[in-house]
Amino acid sequence: MGVKFAPSLLCMDLTQVARQLEVMNRRADILHVDLMDLRFVENIGLCPAFVQAIRPLAKKPIDCHVMGWDLPWWIKALAKAGADSITVHLETLCGAGEGALEEIHALGCGVGLALSPETAAEAALPYLSMVDKVTVMTVKPGFPGAPFLWEMLPKIRRLAAMREELGLGFAIEMDGSCADDNFAALREAGTDVFVVGAAALFDRCADLEQAFDRMEAAFLPDRKDGA
Ligand code: MG
Repeated sequence: MGVKFAPSLLCMDLTQVARQLEVMNRRADILHVDLMDLRFVENIGLCPAFVQAIRPLAKKPIDCHVMGWDLPWWIKALAKAGADSITVHLETLCGAGEGALEEIHALGCGVGLALSPETAAEAALPYLSMVDKVTVMTVKPGFPGAPFLWEMLPKIRRLAAMREELGLGFAIEMDGSCADDNFAALREAGTDVFVVGAAALFDRCADLEQAFDRMEAAFLPDRKDGA
């Protein structure tokens, strides 16, 4: 699986949404939208109305990362708003996991399962055959820019091994403080999709096109132009 970049729209310049989406439509692989409920995590992110607003402008898949309880509400609202995929936390499944994941699939969306730092890879085992992507949180969820948790690397390796052992095809995503000092280790561990925020992308340059150039030069120095 090749490397994919999923810019975190919560970290974009929100005064320049349309202009920045034009660049992301060319340069990003996935658009990552963080949603929070002030209860599962102590913060508030974007919202279904934001997803609905960017839907006509977005030419890349919109992945909605729900850090919240009340999954039936979120799933219904985000599918209606136009999400291409919905990623929910294993910790919020509350024993009704298959129902929530089946509902996402039934609404025509890709299915993602996110693991908070305290959740082991093995906890995802019952669900792995039902998901398109597993997201390993590499920071405490809800706080973009929080310290990177190096101890999550073995979890990524374990998920890559489980995928191989089970003959499955889900993507492995990392989410949280991707940066120059951890990209290579994350890739080596088996990460396919990198959620990129301030450190990896947006803080490199106010001009987003140049920020992408600099990120790719830093992370993928061997990639040829246009490849
Ligand atoms: Mg996220």
